[in-house]
Amino acid sequence: MAAFRSLRKIATNSVITRNKNGIFEAARCISTAGFPGLSETHQMLWKTCRDFADKELVPVAGQNDKDCSFPKEQVKMLGEMGLLCVDISEEDGGTGLDYLAYAIAMEEVSRGCASAGCIMSVNNSLYLGPIKMYANPEQKERFMKPFLHGDKVGCFALSEPGNGSDAGAASTTARLEGDEWVLNGTKSWITNGYESEATVVFATTDKSKKHKGISAFLVPKPTPGLSLGKKEDKLGIRATSTCNLIFDDCRIPKENLLGEPGFGFKIAMKTLDAGRIGIAAQGLGIAQASLECAIDYAQKRMAFNEPISKQQMIQEKLANMEVQIESARLLTWKAAMLKDAGKPYTKDAAMAKLAASEAATFCAHQAIQTLGGMGYVTSMPAERLYRDARITEIYEGTSEIQRLVIAGQLLKEYAAH
Ligand SMILES: Cc1cc2nc3c(=O)[nH]c(=O)nc-3n(C[C@H](O)[C@H](O)[C@H](O)COP(=O)(O)OP(=O)(O)OC[C@H]3O[C@@H](n4cnc5c(N)ncnc54)[C@H](O)[C@@H]3O)c2cc1C
Repeated sequence: MAAFRSLRKIATNSVITRNKNGIFEAARCISTAGFPGLSETHQMLWKTCRDFADKELVPVAGQNDKDCSFPKEQVKMLGEMGLLCVDISEEDGGTGLDYLAYAIAMEEVSRGCASAGCIMSVNNSLYLGPIKMYANPEQKERFMKPFLHGDKVGCFALSEPGNGSDAGAASTTARLEGDEWVLNGTKSWITNGYESEATVVFATTDKSKKHKGISAFLVPKPTPGLSLGKKEDKLGIRATSTCNLIFDDCRIPKENLLGEPGFGFKIAMKTLDAGRIGIAAQGLGIAQASLECAIDYAQKRMAFNEPISKQQMIQEKLANMEVQIESARLLTWKAAMLKDAGKPYTKDAAMAKLAASEAATFCAHQAIQTLGGMGYVTSMPAERLYRDARITEIYEGTSEIQRLVIAGQLLKEYAAH
């Protein structure tokens, strides 16, 4: 509530009210120039998230990165603002906005702190996403409700030590014994592994059927038989935890199966399609922060008796960054709008993720070059942005896998003509 009140004070140009679920609504349009196609709600959301990021995330992002410390207070604020359940319906207790809103909010939060953006994306799209699509009312009561407003966060366990890109080769098993599923195996690289209080887990219930034998399960944490591996020491998004989830005869009730038996791979792929829009938006946020850092520095740094922003080679960098960001943003919004319209968006989400994650890496690289020596030290954000950018090309499908998805969809489209 306090976080929301301070946001309201900042957004002086608008009147914001909170509805019964705690989300903000714009009562009139703000004068955000340059994006005339966005609805009042989207513009208001954008400004609110931008102000929130500048006030609450930017000041702590560097220290949390250095300390590898989970931004607990900021995650709680994201929850209070309705940003951990953006597209969950109001009926289900969520914010009830669309995926375009989610992309806009993700970009701004990630511009402030890529780790906070990562935590937000896992809760929204990887954890709540499949629950929204496949859970029954009892499962929603238990595994959705407490995870909407920052009291608890969830995680998503698909990858394994032996298979990441090849997710259909899952070797974690689940066997039915009486009224319980018994899970065995190791899931790797699990974001929010340490802080989460439940996970969506994928395990094979019938190995002979290969990916069609994979099922999805809801596992509360802690549960006997589920333990955590060591916290990975990572290049970037260091304020998030990443670890193995180790299942050793872990027993869960029969009713914790999510969807039908054998639907797991389909659930995972549908979840990742949507999740990729969120990672695209995370990449955009990192890219935008890199550009802003470069412009600010270039205007202040003097060389040869003038600001370096007057040098054409610096201007070239800024121009190239802006073109990559705007192109990737349009792809990201297009994918989100297709999803909101109920149209196919697999190829578009993959294109958005590919373009935005490569834009993030490119822009962070260019920002360091623009800052010269100051780009290389931790007293400026450029080096953190450079480290944070890299993960967006790896998780939720590497850039190579995105290219395979795009080409696969493209060839299908042409074959249909
Ligand atoms: C910080 C972090 C957080 C993560 N969070 C989660 C999470 O919360 N939940 C979760 O389930 N997973 C998570 N992951 C796992 C992530 O999704 C995988 O690392 C990613 O999908 C790649 O899998 P891999 O690491 O096994 O690489 P591999 O699949 O072994 O790939 C290695 C290289 O080979 C390439 N390659 C593989 N197959 C092909 C192919 N067919 N054609 C061309 N090139 C190919 C890849 O692109 C890559 O360059 C996370 C990973 C990291 C690093």
